[in-house]
Amino acid sequence: MTRQEDIAYDFLEGDRIWPLGPAHVSFTRALKEVLSRIPDEAYSMIAAKVYFVVEDLRFAALNVPFNRLYPPCTRDHEVKIDTIVVFHGALTYPYAALVGLLAHELAHSIAMEDNHLANEAAADKLVRQWGFSKELKALSFEQKKAMENKPAVIHRTKHDKKTQRKAGKLANHPAMKELSRMIEAGAVSRERTIAYLKKGRKP
Ligand SMILES: [Zn+2]
Repeated sequence: MTRQEDIAYDFLEGDRIWPLGPAHVSFTRALKEVLSRIPDEAYSMIAAKVYFVVEDLRFAALNVPFNRLYPPCTRDHEVKIDTIVVFHGALTYPYAALVGLLAHELAHSIAMEDNHLANEAAADKLVRQWGFSKELKALSFEQKKAMENKPAVIHRTKHDKKTQRKAGKLANHPAMKELSRMIEAGAVSRERTIAYLKKGRKP
């Protein structure tokens, strides 16, 4: 499969971008660009565990699953998921800054340090290695602008490595209940969702 096909399978046609259904055009374009440009190893790591929540004015809040049970996972198998929540402010960024932001947040899923400042530096270093120096500058410019008004930049929280995430039946998961509700409300394509769930994970 080509990278473009992988991106379509892993992110665009699956349940990685919440709420499900048509996603924000600029966001989708920027995400495809970042995912197209990063090295294979980074892509594999990200494709294995990163989800997105993009602000949608139809919803006040969204519960997104952070773990899943699919055969052949056993009960004790822990699947770690990083959810990147994208808020409205980011969608008003100039395109280059949005690309920089997505690259930065994705880098947090790979570069992890113990404290916040080291974590930020490690993420930015990786983003520059990936070739997004220009976009990172555009991002800094937007973040400085935002700081003059209010702290509007959201960073993902560091993983709590000690947290035991309990597995449960997928259908009983609050997010799946929310998904069922959304399907009933017509906000989500039932066919697309069911097809995805049946297809299961890529081997
Ligand atoms: Zn950060």
